[in-house]
Amino acid sequence: MLKRTFVTALLGLSVLASAQAQEAVVNIYSARHYPSDEALYSQFTRQTGIRINRVDSDDAGILARLRAEGAASPADVILLVDAARLWRGEAEGLFQPIHSPALEAAIPAQLRGEPTADGRTAWFGFSTRARVIVYDKVKVKREDVDTYEELGDPKNKGRLCIRSGSHPYNLSLFGAVLEHLGEQKTEAWLRGMVDNMARPPKGGDTDQIRAVAAGECAVAVTNSYYLARLMRSTRPEDQAVVERIGVVFPNQQSWGTHVNIAGGAVARHAKNREHAIKFLEFLASPQAQEHFANGNNEWPAAKGVQLDNPALKAMAGNGFKSETIPIAVVGRNAVKVQQMLDRVGFR
Ligand code: FE
Repeated sequence: MLKRTFVTALLGLSVLASAQAQEAVVNIYSARHYPSDEALYSQFTRQTGIRINRVDSDDAGILARLRAEGAASPADVILLVDAARLWRGEAEGLFQPIHSPALEAAIPAQLRGEPTADGRTAWFGFSTRARVIVYDKVKVKREDVDTYEELGDPKNKGRLCIRSGSHPYNLSLFGAVLEHLGEQKTEAWLRGMVDNMARPPKGGDTDQIRAVAAGECAVAVTNSYYLARLMRSTRPEDQAVVERIGVVFPNQQSWGTHVNIAGGAVARHAKNREHAIKFLEFLASPQAQEHFANGNNEWPAAKGVQLDNPALKAMAGNGFKSETIPIAVVGRNAVKVQQMLDRVGFR
């Protein structure tokens, strides 16, 4: 009697175990930390029945964790917020290139990893952010700061606030400039920016915007969504900041404004590969694109998806000219750029 109960209990346990094994899940390592993404994730689970487990960290933390975990990593999907970091993840073999007709159709070729020898792709951009220039409307003439090149021009001496040169957002911008201007001009430009600094680099992009409004400097560089956040804020002190500054989408008369991406990949050792691909394809769908980009005041990466975001409209009007170089080159240029930064003393 007792024995039979025990066997039944064991059977029950093993049924439970196999039910758990069959439960559809996808494990995501994410450097996105925007509360608005939550709604998107539950929408995916409702549509597909695939449950999401999420681990949050920053780009560098996620790459370090993947390296440490190796083949034992439970990660299926990797979401990062910088093109150079996505490139690095691919270069280190942390991703698994995939073939997805849906993703290839939706995401423009310059916003994803370069095709592998057998035509697969290691990562895809899902939203874009512009690296823009803000300036003090009282002290600075717009035409003196409407190109990246002018940030290093002596006429802007003592005016510039910018975060650390080796932060991914700047490494990617400088990597793009290197592609446009070549090595000599880029290094001279970086040296010019160091000469023009109002203070040594410190803080994040929002701190640079605030420093302009506070009169500590007159020109700064920021990702567009930090400015959009201030524009949409109802706090009087944020509104005062926005009142004081102008914004420029640089290089409209030449190669266009530098645009970075937030994007995703399938992890090298993904155990739930099909679910991972399904999740990335979901992120490229119009409904998800709108949500994904709007939640952080970004622009959708997928072709033909329109976004109705008042702050972005106020900032960029009917749009702006963005650079067209493949975003993957910024990753390839990152090491060279870092060496230049060391030589010119750009901390
Ligand atoms: Fe950011």
